[in-house]
Amino acid sequence: MAKKDIKEKLKGIITLAFGVETEKENQEGKANLAGIGPEATDAYAKAALDEGLELKKEFSDVRVIKTWFTNNDHFVCDICRPLNGVNVEVEKPFIGGDGKEYDRPSACPDCRCWIKSSTDILGETELQNVPISQ
Ligand SMILES: [Zn+2]
Repeated sequence: MAKKDIKEKLKGIITLAFGVETEKENQEGKANLAGIGPEATDAYAKAALDEGLELKKEFSDVRVIKTWFTNNDHFVCDICRPLNGVNVEVEKPFIGGDGKEYDRPSACPDCRCWIKSSTDILGETELQNVPISQ
């Protein structure tokens, strides 16, 4: 087996075992998501949130955060726009552009946003802790 094939195979196994995504797969996921609609947005976001809550259960001493991403194009609504790149602790809500709390996307009927959960071992990630002022 060629070295490249082994690497590909290993990558597949690691992805299965840990849900590790490459940036390319992530981009493809987003592209798919854009065409599917709010159910997919909800399902994808719920899975990412559950993953974060699992992480928190497993590593209770470590800060676990979630990050909100928008497609950052002119279709993004005023609720979601200010949330692009915003981090909060995994159990805490995001504050949308409308001042309301959102645990995860979707935040509007056309929402195409997604979140990612991750550990913040150093606890140095800047968190959203005040409502966005208009
Ligand atoms: Zn959105």
